[in-house]
Amino acid sequence: MDAETAVVTGHDVTTITCVCGNTVSQDGLIQANSDGVPVHAGANTAVPAGLAEWPADEDLHTLCPACGRVYRDAIVEETGTAPVAFRVDVTAGPIAEAIRVHWSLSA
Ligand SMILES: [Zn+2]
Repeated sequence: MDAETAVVTGHDVTTITCVCGNTVSQDGLIQANSDGVPVHAGANTAVPAGLAEWPADEDLHTLCPACGRVYRDAIVEETGTAPVAFRVDVTAGPIAEAIRVHWSLSA
């Protein structure tokens, strides 16, 4: 399996520097569910087409939209390390579409 680990500071997922070099201030990092699908952050509004609902169990992940590596927030927050949980395909399919929706809403 994948033994890659990203650089992270202070147990804070927003400080992740992805294995590929991406950061929040570069291409951004996106909150995702346990399938790597970007989630809708608005708690009281309808979920836009293409995005996943906010996970009921709060099991959030952080998706790097540049390379598709996904980090599990709970691991980062508990251990202060950011092992790659899994990878998704960000170039095609539903996750690529969800990333487009995410940026269109947050632009
Ligand atoms: Zn990356």
